[in-house]
Amino acid sequence: MKPEKIYYFDNNATTRVAPEVVEAMLPFLTECWGNPSSAYEFGHRVAKPLEQARIQVAGLINADPREIIFTSCGTESDNAALQSAFRLFPGKRHLVTTAVEHSAVLNYSKFLQDNGCEVTVLPVEPDGSLDLHQLERAIRPDTALVSVMWANNETGVVFPIEEISAICRSRDVLFHTDAVQAAGKIVLDVRETGVDLLSLSGHKLYAPKGIGVLYARRGARFQPYLIGGHQERGRRAGTENVAGCIAFGRAAELAVERFEEETARIRELRDRLENGILTGIPGTTRNGARDARLPNTTNLGFEGVEAEAVLMMLDRIGVCVSSGSACATGSLEPSHVLTAMGVRPAQARGAVRFSLGGYNTREEVDFVLEELPPIIRHLRGSLPSGGEPVLVRDSGTVGGV
Ligand SMILES: *Cc1c(COP(=O)(O)O)cnc(C)c1O
Repeated sequence: MKPEKIYYFDNNATTRVAPEVVEAMLPFLTECWGNPSSAYEFGHRVAKPLEQARIQVAGLINADPREIIFTSCGTESDNAALQSAFRLFPGKRHLVTTAVEHSAVLNYSKFLQDNGCEVTVLPVEPDGSLDLHQLERAIRPDTALVSVMWANNETGVVFPIEEISAICRSRDVLFHTDAVQAAGKIVLDVRETGVDLLSLSGHKLYAPKGIGVLYARRGARFQPYLIGGHQERGRRAGTENVAGCIAFGRAAELAVERFEEETARIRELRDRLENGILTGIPGTTRNGARDARLPNTTNLGFEGVEAEAVLMMLDRIGVCVSSGSACATGSLEPSHVLTAMGVRPAQARGAVRFSLGGYNTREEVDFVLEELPPIIRHLRGSLPSGGEPVLVRDSGTVGGV
C-alpha cells in the first residue's frame, strides 16, 4: 500500500531542493562545466558566479565573503572546526562541548578523546537549556575550543550563542557553533555574536545534499582539514562542488528574502500542530523549552507508546516524521538528547519529532491532527485490534539528523 501524497514533517532531517535553487544550479551541471581555478575565460565564467554565491552565503550570517569556506557537508564543517583548534594549539588538549550536540561533533569529540584529548561534556537542564555558569567553570587554561550548537536538531532548543561567545572571548578561547539547524530559521549574525567558527549545511536549507559551509572569522587562525590545492584561499583543498556552491548561494539568498514571512508562517503551522496534538491527545508532553526554540520544531512524547510504531503507522499514510530515539532506527536506544534532558527511557522511546518547512500547508497539518489521535489510541490498545498487524521495519536507518 503506497500513499500517493507525502506529508513531509521531517525538515530537520533534510529539505526539498527549492525549484529556484535547481534553476540556479542547472547551468553549472550543463554548459558551465569549467574549473573555477582555470586561468582562461571559460574558467572565469564559473569562478565569478562562485564568488557571487560566496557573497550570498556571507549575507545569510552577516560575514565577509572571504570568511566563507565551502565544504562537502555540515559534518565536514564540524570536523574541520574541531580538528583545526587542536592542530593549532598542540599544548592545549581540552575541549568543552555539550551532551546534546549532533553526532558530527559528539563522535569527533570521542575521536579526539581517544587520541589524548580531554573532553568536558556539559549536561543540560530538563528543558534542554545550558547552565552558563557551568560552561564558564568548565573552561581551563588548556582549553583549545568550546563547541556549542546554535539550535538542537531534535528539540529545536536554541542556545544563547552571543553570551557563550562573549564568555569564550573573555577567556581567550576559540568558539565554534554548529548552526546547521538554525540557518534560515532564526537570525544569525556572526559579527554581533563574535563567533570564531560556524557550520552550515545546504540540504537543511533547500539546497542539495553534499554541500556545506564553514565560516572562519578573519583574524582567527585556521588549519585546513583537506590538504592539497589552493582552493578556498588555501583553507580547503579540492575542486569546488560548483553547482552545490551556487545552489547554497541561491538558497541563502532566498532564506534572507523570505525570512520574516516564512518563519512567521511556519511558526503558526507548528503551533497549530503542537497545540492540536497536546490538547487533542491525552498523555502527551512537549520535550524541550517552549520559547527558546526554533519556529519549526516540536518534539512530543506520547505516553505508553513506542515512537517507532507511531512512525510506521504514519508512514502508511504518507506522513514522514522522526522518532526521538536513536541514531539508528531499529535500535531502541533512547535519544542522547532526551536522555541528557533527564527524560526517562520509557518516555523517551515515545518521542516523535515533527519539523516543518517551507512547503508545509495548513491542510497537511490538519491531516495529521485528524489521523494521529486514532493511531495513538490504537497503539495504546484501547481500540479493538484488527486490520493489518503492526510490523517493525527491519531495514532503513534514520540518521542522527
Ligand atoms: C544535519 C546536521 C548536521 C550534518 O550535516 P550534513 O550536511 O548532513 O553532514 C550537523 N549538525 C546538525 C545540527 C545537523 O542537523
